[in-house]
Order: sequence, then structure tokens, then C-alpha cells
Amino acid sequence: MNDRKPLIAGNWKMFKTCSEAIATAKQLAHLIRKNQAVDVMIAPPFIALEKVSEAIKDSHLSLGGQNLFWQSEGAYTGEISANMLTSVGCEYVIIGHSERRQYFGESDATVNRKIRAAVDHHLKPILCIGESEKERESKDTFSVLDKQMKTGLKGFSLDDLTSLIIAYEPVWAIGTGKTATADQAQEVHRFLRSMLATSYGNTLANSIRILYGGSVKPDNISELMAMADVDGALVGGASLDPETFSNIVHFEK
Ligand code: PEP
Repeated sequence: MNDRKPLIAGNWKMFKTCSEAIATAKQLAHLIRKNQAVDVMIAPPFIALEKVSEAIKDSHLSLGGQNLFWQSEGAYTGEISANMLTSVGCEYVIIGHSERRQYFGESDATVNRKIRAAVDHHLKPILCIGESEKERESKDTFSVLDKQMKTGLKGFSLDDLTSLIIAYEPVWAIGTGKTATADQAQEVHRFLRSMLATSYGNTLANSIRILYGGSVKPDNISELMAMADVDGALVGGASLDPETFSNIVHFEK
């Protein structure tokens, strides 16, 4: 047993117009209203954040951004800052998702700057890391994760990291229908927690939530959540439908 409250986070990616996002958020808020034992976060597209925030204000659903830029403001066309996210009610922000790394050139160094901006603005950063299929096959999983963690978290103090959340998302399992087995997830989560313990001590390592992400569905969540070091999930495709996502939130213990 540990004191970490599970977090189930929904990444809506580039899906849903503003009105669709409001309707989905309202339905979801209703479906999960009795489940206070789990923190639940949704990350709609930027254009829907403010309206969704209003729609869920009396629920226990939280809001997150899917990305941010590290500057507070300026001539950075197309970007969104940390204070813009907090101004519309965001509590969390997803950073370094593999799709951002793959399609938008994000690196561990840019991820590091984004986490700094999130921490400085009291946003809870969800740092996404994960190995590709090729890296897993060549047995490089742990060295890849080691580098992503060490570079992503370079220069942070213990105090900076109290609100950090890590999402282990093997790239080969995102949107592919392939899930890591619960044992594979646990092996990596244990490794990540021991890395945190080495760098920051046991107290912080034991308090940080490590989520699993990659084709999480209602029928595999319970098995994953039964693992000692799996503290929740980052869910893509299956978070778009309120009933399906609610079934994930109501996983069997
Ligand atoms: C994700 O987008 O973070 C994700 C894990 O997607 P999916 O659940 O669709 O694999």
C-alpha cells in the first residue's frame, strides 16, 4: 500500500470542436461524480479549455493543457504559455508527449525548459517518456528512459518536483492497440521510481505518481492498476468517449 492517489488523465489530442468538448466533459463529469477516490483530468484542445473549465467547475474533474511554450509571452506565433493555461483553469500540463517529439521536433532539452515553465507557474507537469519498438527490441529501454529522465529533469531541486507526474508511454503502444503487459509496465515503473530515489531520495520517489500510457482500455486498466508502481493512466483514444473513459476511471480494485 502507498499514499499515492490514482490519477486517470485523458489526452484528447486534436479531437473535438469546442461544443463537442463541452458536451463530452459534462457527460463525463456526471458519470464520475461519485468516484472521489481517483483524480481525473482531461486535456481538450486549447480552443475549448475556457468553456470546458466553466462546464466542469462544480465537478471533481480537473483540466490540463496538452503542451505549452516556456516563454510567458512574446512573438511566438501559434504557441501557448503556462500563465495562459492557468488563466483558464488548468491544473496540469502534458509535456513531451511522443507525438510532440515525433512530429514537432521536441527534445529532452526543450522538455526540460517546458517543465521549468510549468513548475514556475504552479502547473503540475506530466512528463511523458518512452522507448520506441526498435529501442525495446535492441534492449535499450532503460538507457533511453534514463536519458529522457535525466535530461528532462536536469537542474530541478527536490522542492521543484513535488508536483511532478511521470507518464511512461512506450511509443510502440500509443494508438496501436498493443499494450505493455502489466509486468512490463511494472518493471519499468519500478526502474523509474528507483532512479528518482537515487537522485532525490525515497520520500520524493515514493510520492511521485507514475502513470502508464499506451492503448489503455476498460478491459486492461484493472490489471495495470494492480501493479505496485502503477499509479494511474494517461489515456488517448479511449478518453474520447465519456462512457468508455468513465469505465476506465471506475477500474476494479
Ligand atoms: C496517449 O495519447 O498518450 C495515448 C496513450 O494514446 P492511446 O491511449 O490512444 O494509446
